[in-house]
Amino acid sequence: MPLLRSLLLSLLALAIAGLVMAQADVKKPSSEQDVEAVLTGGVPMGRWKEGLLFDGVRPMPWLKSAANWFPGTEDVQPNEMRVTFMGTAPMIRPGQMNTSIYVELGNGDKFVFDMGEGAVANYVAARVALNEIKHVFITHLHVDHFGSLPYLWMFGTWAGGWHEPLTIYGPSGRTAEYGTKKMVEGMRMMLGWHRDAFSVFPVGKGHDIQVKEFDFRDNGGVVYDKDGVRVIHWQRSHAKDGASGYRLDWNDMCFVWTGDGRPSKLDIKYAKGCDLYVTELQPEVVEINSGVQGVPPFLARYTIDTHHTPGYAAGYLASQIKPRMFMTTHMNFDPFLNEETVAEVRHHWKGPYHFGAPDGIVVNMTRDLVWVREGILPDYPNSRAPQFDFSRGQLVVPHPPHRREDIQEPFVREQQLDPAAYYPKGYMPHLLEDWPVEGDIVIPMDVLPDNLKDSMGASWRLRNKNRKALEEQPGN
Ligand SMILES: [Zn+2]
Ligand SMILES: [Zn+2]
Repeated sequence: MPLLRSLLLSLLALAIAGLVMAQADVKKPSSEQDVEAVLTGGVPMGRWKEGLLFDGVRPMPWLKSAANWFPGTEDVQPNEMRVTFMGTAPMIRPGQMNTSIYVELGNGDKFVFDMGEGAVANYVAARVALNEIKHVFITHLHVDHFGSLPYLWMFGTWAGGWHEPLTIYGPSGRTAEYGTKKMVEGMRMMLGWHRDAFSVFPVGKGHDIQVKEFDFRDNGGVVYDKDGVRVIHWQRSHAKDGASGYRLDWNDMCFVWTGDGRPSKLDIKYAKGCDLYVTELQPEVVEINSGVQGVPPFLARYTIDTHHTPGYAAGYLASQIKPRMFMTTHMNFDPFLNEETVAEVRHHWKGPYHFGAPDGIVVNMTRDLVWVREGILPDYPNSRAPQFDFSRGQLVVPHPPHRREDIQEPFVREQQLDPAAYYPKGYMPHLLEDWPVEGDIVIPMDVLPDNLKDSMGASWRLRNKNRKALEEQPGN
């Protein structure tokens, strides 16, 4: 008891001492001039222009980190356009997948521009549910711009892409055999075994892929026009007829992805004044290419001069188009190239400029502000839950078109080991070898467990919230 009392007393003494010290710590405020000197020291506040950043180039207050984007931590705001570089190189390697750009709009719409080989891995890492990708615009039919389509189509369907088909937008060719329609037909044929094999799963409309092929010569033609979103296209000079550039306009903001091609008057005409102008770029390093990149100089020079946009030309185009943010992608991200690239672009373009590389670079854009950050894409992410529209208050799982018995002879099934031979004694899961119900499964939302409702309805809820906010804006 005396021990406890002395402990309490000493605690009380400590507390009093703390109070006295805190009292003694309250100091006389600094003068108004001193406070102002500290709060405004080094801050331009309109008194001078700071570095090479420009008016309107700064992080938005809702970003969780001004330097990094962590997938799944920030909602796209009602008035915002968020653009993520999911693949950034013509030459695929572990750090850089082939070209793909993801555009998310505040109204909940999502668009993919090109779907190069390997890019789908970055979509998964960026927590994009594959069944949310429904509109893919292909600039041209080089495989580094569409190589991930077969995977996206098949596994996007498997992972809940049952209610809306995937639509591929792309140019015609000079003859039908070279058009986007023909490529998709070829892909459908290539995936014949896969499609039939996956028909033991729910499919719904997932396998009914749609193609919107436009006439590549119809410069300025509208390829998409819905809910205030408009996408036009124009020809690019890329060795073969059919290569196209795209411009997306929404909410008084504009995004351009030119795809590959030689710098052209058409680019200036159709991209003029666009907020976010993205083109491809090849730096002038043909001589050292053979040593560093393994490309013989003559092959590098010839490839650039017949197909691509040199760094100087990219800067020149930007100086004519005058975007709020200029970005280049489809370029190797290497220390020996990067400074060279900036120097070439800067020869003509003194305005805002960033690399659309390496993979995961994110652009947040509103009418007033634009900010570019590094996205943190994990190497071993989990897939996001499939996203569903719960407007009708139910989750519908379509019945699989086939059973195994329809597509597999009995012999090989009969050779399967008896599970009792390998499961430990006393453990036997209830095997689900047949689809458990007849007909479509329809689950009302109120019986759906909360965790499923929350995870699978997240995009739908954000879309509703943002659309409401957009409707309530003055002027709408
Ligand atoms: Zn390319
Ligand atoms: Zn190309």
